Amino acid sequence: MFYPEPVSKLMSALSKLPGIGPKTAQRLSYYILSMPKNEVQNLSSAIIEAKEKMMNCSICGDLTDKDPCEICRSDLRDPSYLCIVEEPKDVIAVERTREYKGHYHVLHGAISPMDGIGPDDIRIKELLMRLGTDQDRTIKEVILATDPNVEGEATAMYIARLLKPLGVKVTRLAHGIPVGGDLEYADEVTLLKALEGRREM
Ligand SMILES: [Zn+2]
Repeated sequence: MFYPEPVSKLMSALSKLPGIGPKTAQRLSYYILSMPKNEVQNLSSAIIEAKEKMMNCSICGDLTDKDPCEICRSDLRDPSYLCIVEEPKDVIAVERTREYKGHYHVLHGAISPMDGIGPDDIRIKELLMRLGTDQDRTIKEVILATDPNVEGEATAMYIARLLKPLGVKVTRLAHGIPVGGDLEYADEVTLLKALEGRREM
């Protein structure tokens, strides 16, 4: 089908977003074109502003507009717990339970040989450095909260094996989160139960 060039450009940009197929890209493009100009300007500047102001926390790797992030800076958090998650959105999922008061480490991915993602491609080095510089042994427990799918399990196993010699307690979220699922889609109660029922690896 023929689209004027500006429209096909917009559609192709939108279709790069997750969950946006060609049909949705077409619908969104025409919707955007029907919006008042100032609303379109607000949308585009909100995207640019978020991208420019957000960065990865230099300690935990979570997305933040201030470095270190609010959780890493807070006195109200318990530094003896370190929860390892795959993505920044997983921090939000665990925070939603309102029970966990420890710190986080965001890996920005999971080990996946099929996709060519090895241990060096995610923030495992940073995790080891973090534990290595923890001279006073403040961190008492590392909770592996990677996704309950093949990649998440492989990543948890890999990290558990690396951390064992360091003498730190390593636990894994209990089952209950649907296998093959994504942490972010688990409801608060399920995630809270998985957190409470975590087992030593
Ligand atoms: Zn942080």
